[in-house]
Amino acid sequence: MSQINDNNANESKGESEVMFIENLMERVLKGGQISFQDAEKLLATKEIFTLFNCANTITRKFNGDRVDIESLINAKSGNCPEDCSFCAQSSLYNNNTGINKYPLLSKKIILEHALRAKQDGASSFCLVCAYRSPPEKDFEQICQIIREIKKNVPIDVNVSLGFMTNERARRLKSLGVKRYNHNLESSESFFSQICKTHDFVDRVNTARIVKEEGLELCSGGIIGMGESRKQRLELGFSLNSLQPDEVPINILIARNGTPLADLNPLDPIEAIKTIAVWRFIMPKTILKIAGGREVHLKDKEKLALKAGANGIITGGYLTTGGNNSSKDIAMIKEIGLRTEQ
Ligand code: SF4
Repeated sequence: MSQINDNNANESKGESEVMFIENLMERVLKGGQISFQDAEKLLATKEIFTLFNCANTITRKFNGDRVDIESLINAKSGNCPEDCSFCAQSSLYNNNTGINKYPLLSKKIILEHALRAKQDGASSFCLVCAYRSPPEKDFEQICQIIREIKKNVPIDVNVSLGFMTNERARRLKSLGVKRYNHNLESSESFFSQICKTHDFVDRVNTARIVKEEGLELCSGGIIGMGESRKQRLELGFSLNSLQPDEVPINILIARNGTPLADLNPLDPIEAIKTIAVWRFIMPKTILKIAGGREVHLKDKEKLALKAGANGIITGGYLTTGGNNSSKDIAMIKEIGLRTEQ
């Protein structure tokens, strides 16, 4: 008898959890917001398929069936003076991380990459450089390269160059740059454990400058760096307060030679639950699965695109390889989504 009662109690608990998730979805679909406590309950739920389905419904309602595909180039690699403990490009670790270090690539090489990205079906091309902020000479050279890409390749140009001033952001905007990437990386309460050479607020400041000067903002972070669930949500809410157009979600690949090398990987279902809950927090933003997608999600990539994510980086990342774009495009079509505008 007591077994039957336990079963009944568990069933009704499951039912009420399903209702709780569906009610929050209805609120979001009507333009409402969820609270931090709501998000905590969502992330703790055992009703993961309801969570994923509801996140998918929100994604489709506000973003349609299109998956945003971006290709990036690491245009200047390594020797960054900052000490971000996850990053293989920090000068503090990059002699032991096995990366290829090089100064700013030539205009010719970057232009070739932009053309290839367009031919491979990417809708945007992001030029990423490992700087705290670029020296004037490099910034000028980057501006010339952007001008050439805009003249020769019909693709959206995004950049990621570290900390920005208003003057530089204005200059990038005048050259036709669409979006500027500057990740918050982690929550404010965890940030000092992963970086000591700058503060969370420095990152927020650059994100604000980008918006002030009329560029679209791409800002996200890395999950699986040892932060708590609460801190993962804190990051989601901080990002939402900046109203970014795009949020890249990286899942840490613990690189040998970095201080985080020995961390255990985040469980893939936990990563997808985080994406799903961030979708409730940011219903209209492009949530782009970035670094760690292929390594950690493996066959669950499709699930992530049906549980809140609506963007991917294709063709590899800054210091790790990735799927080629034809494989990614085939995967997107296979699950009934599309890549064209
Ligand atoms: S500022 Fe960027 S490139 Fe430099 S160490 Fe941190 S994450 Fe790496």
